[in-house]
Amino acid sequence: MHPSTPAPTERQAQAIALEDEHAAHNYHPLPVVIAEGQGAWVTDIDGRRYLDCLAAYSAVNFGHSNPVLLDAARAQLDRITLTSRAFHNDQLGPFVTELATLAGKDMVLPMNTGAEAVETAIKVSRAWGYRVKGVQDGRANIIVMAGNFHGRTTTIVSFSDDPDAREGFGPYTPGFRTVPYGDASAVAEAIDGDTVAVLVEPIQGEAGIIVPPPSFLPELRALCDERRVLMVADEIQSGLGRVGATFACDLVGVVPDLYLLGKALGGGIVPVSAVVGDRDVLGVLRPGEHGSTFGGNPLAAAVGRAVVALCATGEPQERAELLGRRLHGDLARLIGHGVREVRGAGLWAGIDIEPALATGREVCELLMERGVLAKDTRGSTIRLAPPIVVEPGDLDWAVEQLAEVLRELGER
Ligand SMILES: *Cc1c(COP(=O)(O)O)cnc(C)c1O
Repeated sequence: MHPSTPAPTERQAQAIALEDEHAAHNYHPLPVVIAEGQGAWVTDIDGRRYLDCLAAYSAVNFGHSNPVLLDAARAQLDRITLTSRAFHNDQLGPFVTELATLAGKDMVLPMNTGAEAVETAIKVSRAWGYRVKGVQDGRANIIVMAGNFHGRTTTIVSFSDDPDAREGFGPYTPGFRTVPYGDASAVAEAIDGDTVAVLVEPIQGEAGIIVPPPSFLPELRALCDERRVLMVADEIQSGLGRVGATFACDLVGVVPDLYLLGKALGGGIVPVSAVVGDRDVLGVLRPGEHGSTFGGNPLAAAVGRAVVALCATGEPQERAELLGRRLHGDLARLIGHGVREVRGAGLWAGIDIEPALATGREVCELLMERGVLAKDTRGSTIRLAPPIVVEPGDLDWAVEQLAEVLRELGER
């Protein structure tokens, strides 16, 4: 183990021990216990402050304790929070209308978590395949990408190629075909008469912020049109401002048939996810075929409306674009100084650390000691994705801390 692995204070150690004793060990968190957050900063139980460069995997795009989003939540808390979809509520109609408008689509199917949005899209695509395209019942296939991350349900891990996510959780759901990410000709070859959808992250987040060749998504769009297959874009992590546009698909001028949204849609307050598409696709579902007790609840819808209103101004997108240019410019200077490669778009960066220098986890631990919270992924990659409200000076400071960590490791 690296000698400077951070030693938590006694209070933190106690809090961590308590969690470890009774919470299932399905995560390996950094040894920091957070108590409060404001904007891009969080404070631990000992009062130490950290710049949050993960933003809950983009669920906190608009900052911790965002006053506008909190106001919307508070106002709704005092009115009504849950009705179930057995009845109408006065927030759902405006929410789905405003979100559909933001996305340029007709309809929204609200759920809670990202994985539920993905599951919904799988069901909708299959139903569309059987009822509209005319695929024989039970034969539909969906094309997915190597390196994908779409969530943790049994069906979704069935088409993951991450052994940690998948192995030991079979039997697996059939009906998926994996092709290399970024290779449209492989998709063309994999499509047959029973293919109902191509499910794709426009930028792969968990895989290490992998940006496909610029021609990939436009080629996929053309292919889906030609072969009558739905293009389903999982924008759960890439959407709603992160990449300097409302959707990562916007960066290459592509409009998918279905957008999958989650994470930032709940403003970091409540889980809100959605499938957004046109009537000819989402309209295939009939009452009773799909649902969720909490999906579309008035509190979620009220928060979602405030998030959509924020995005409709275009300000978060513009800020992510500007700050992203600054971030990527600064990070590019670290290449050759402990960094092998930097990828990303907007305020979203995947940084490959020289494997000989340290693992991604070690770099994240050293960053934590310096007051920067980041997360490693797949070995020696770390990601930076601070809330879009981050101050430019704070962003510069975080990159300086990374440069310092790499310099120290180089002298080891
Ligand atoms: C996080 C994520 C999901 C799953 O969302 P949950 O809310 O954790 O279920 C799906 N797709 C992508 C691209 C994600 O980043």
